[in-house]
Amino acid sequence: MNLQNISLIYFDYFEMDFLHEIADKVQKVFLSKIQIREGHIDLSDFYDATRRQYNANKLLQYIQKNYTSEGAKTIGIFNVDFFIPIFTYIFGQAYINGQAGIASLSRLGNESYGIEPDENILLERFSKEIIHELGHTFGLIHCHVPDCVMRSSTYAEDIDQKGYNLCPKCRETLFKP
Ligand SMILES: [Zn+2]
Ligand SMILES: [Zn+2]
Repeated sequence: MNLQNISLIYFDYFEMDFLHEIADKVQKVFLSKIQIREGHIDLSDFYDATRRQYNANKLLQYIQKNYTSEGAKTIGIFNVDFFIPIFTYIFGQAYINGQAGIASLSRLGNESYGIEPDENILLERFSKEIIHELGHTFGLIHCHVPDCVMRSSTYAEDIDQKGYNLCPKCRETLFKP
């Protein structure tokens, strides 16, 4: 596969250093050119007052429609609590073999679980989540190899147990001509 450029578009306040560290990790996996940009959105359009969460399906559609460009994969980066109708919450989602994905920092921090905040753990979790969603946009599906980044994660601890990288089989799928 001809790996495309990757755009990380942030829709909440994030430290620039934090975003650059994520971009470095993403770059090491996909070997693509990474661009970081700021996006603008009225999040109130995506808020579900009953659930007090944000509709991830609608957000993903919005990113697809307004922020994707030919020959690039785009991940929208947020810090709000996402839901989709069948799940209590999700960390992110993406179109398989598509152009867009979304990921949220919400629920990835230790403080969501009553533990001391840790910036490094947060960075690791968020980077893995973003790499995972990008993997979907490149056509990868969930993988059962324990430390493969394409393994699905329900809890933040699940993310801690996997690595940043693709297992050999996923890597082969990604880079096959
Ligand atoms: Zn997934
Ligand atoms: Zn794998």
